[in-house]
Amino acid sequence: MTQQFETVIGLEVHLQLSTKAKIFCGCANVFGSPPNTNVCPVCLGLPGTLPVLNNQALLYAIKVGLALNAEINPFIKFDRKNYYYPDLPKGYQISQYDLPVAKDGFVMIKNEQGPKRVGIKRAHLEEDAGKLMHDNTGNCSLVDYNRTGTPLIEIVTEPDLRSPQEAYDYLNILKLILQYLEVSDCDMEKGSLRCDANVSIRPVGQKEFGTKTELKNMNSFRSVKSALEYEVGRHQQVILSGGKIMQETLLWDDEKGVTAGMRSKEQAHDYRYFPDPDLVPFTIDDKIIDQVRAELPELPQAKLERLIKQYDLSEYDAGVLIMDKAVAYFFEQCCEKYHQPKKIANWLNGAVLKEMNERKTSLGNLKLTPAHLIELIQAVEDGVVSNLAGKEVLTDMLDSGYSAGTIVSQKGLAQVSDDSSLMAIVEEIIHQNPTVVEQIKQGKPSATGFLVGQAMKKSGGKANPKKLNELITRRISNA
Ligand code: ADP
Ligand code: MG
Ligand code: ZN
Repeated sequence: MTQQFETVIGLEVHLQLSTKAKIFCGCANVFGSPPNTNVCPVCLGLPGTLPVLNNQALLYAIKVGLALNAEINPFIKFDRKNYYYPDLPKGYQISQYDLPVAKDGFVMIKNEQGPKRVGIKRAHLEEDAGKLMHDNTGNCSLVDYNRTGTPLIEIVTEPDLRSPQEAYDYLNILKLILQYLEVSDCDMEKGSLRCDANVSIRPVGQKEFGTKTELKNMNSFRSVKSALEYEVGRHQQVILSGGKIMQETLLWDDEKGVTAGMRSKEQAHDYRYFPDPDLVPFTIDDKIIDQVRAELPELPQAKLERLIKQYDLSEYDAGVLIMDKAVAYFFEQCCEKYHQPKKIANWLNGAVLKEMNERKTSLGNLKLTPAHLIELIQAVEDGVVSNLAGKEVLTDMLDSGYSAGTIVSQKGLAQVSDDSSLMAIVEEIIHQNPTVVEQIKQGKPSATGFLVGQAMKKSGGKANPKKLNELITRRISNA
């Protein structure tokens, strides 16, 4: 007997907001400082101190809420989530329980059936905890409170995702939206973006959800997907062999590719949530919401559709461009001055992107200007340099910041097009390849390509291939 199961997934994403200061004190919110240097009595939780909400953090949270099509709660409050852990000096985390900044939004993803709406249950502000470091030389643990009080927004989906692949796609789309908002560096390696995954299965057709497990400790979207795939398999095995899934939190082990038990999941009341008496509930003025809405950037999906329409790009080309807001912006700047969108997109999505990936850097760190890229494209189009030499010019340009013209003359990359210099090469090649020449004469013009290739090599890649083709064809037919 085979039983069909449906997978149900809900994700909780924690995002560190890149405000200048922490969420409830004036300490710098930066990554990588020496341990315990960005701390003060407030974020260390010393008695008698009082938290004050960072307005920038609130504005960022509203921005995220609006971008996720959510409703901004007109009245919000902060609550204490109580638990003890050495990285939490106050003994409670300031979070939001029943009145989060944003609720009831959605993100659109795509699956095989077409567009799909993933509900956003809530997005709330909270503070991050410190960082524990387990010293493996001695028998002690070290704690760094620099991260304590870093503003976080937690974005919680409805249990709307139906496969690990959908979860993976949602995460990528969400991350892109968040990057467009410029509220965080969204860097998973630094821990700026973290994801916990909740998963359950149920027999197809059953209305009630199955018991879920919560997965933590995934450090990339790929591992979120792998952890979910593993866990779905485990749920099926347990249920098919007559067992029951226990509601618990499990840790993903990336190396072993398995999940393992951590602690049984606390129920909400275990945290004894209650309103933080140090932070009064307050109303968010409509004017503030309208202002944040007015300042929202064009979001990825809207940009995609506009680029396709405005520049007559393929969905693929536009899709690659919008994956990086800076690249899409650069593209449009180029298009203002050079009306060949397809060619610009090809260069950006091809050679430029390749260089960015190889150097593991962003466009902003490269010395490339729209004017220089256009000049280069123009030089290739005009046959001043070959396509291949053009790539070499680009590589140089990204480091030096020189113009294409300067690099071409410095490196002697100009394509040779004048007949007299090319003719010498053509004569030599024809002399060296009598059989190929004979084939061409017998009516096999495709063999010309071979001779052009040989001549190109001889010229050190500098000859104009079009010109060579012409000269070789003419020379042989005249012979
Ligand atoms: P908890 O109180 O355990 O934190 P929530 O209702 O707040 O649970 O939901 C946390 C996350 O778990 C949400 O993303 C939600 O969509 C997801 N979720 C809830 N129930 C299930 C379920 N049965 N299977 C899969 N995911 C679920
Ligand atoms: Mg929860
Ligand atoms: Zn502080």
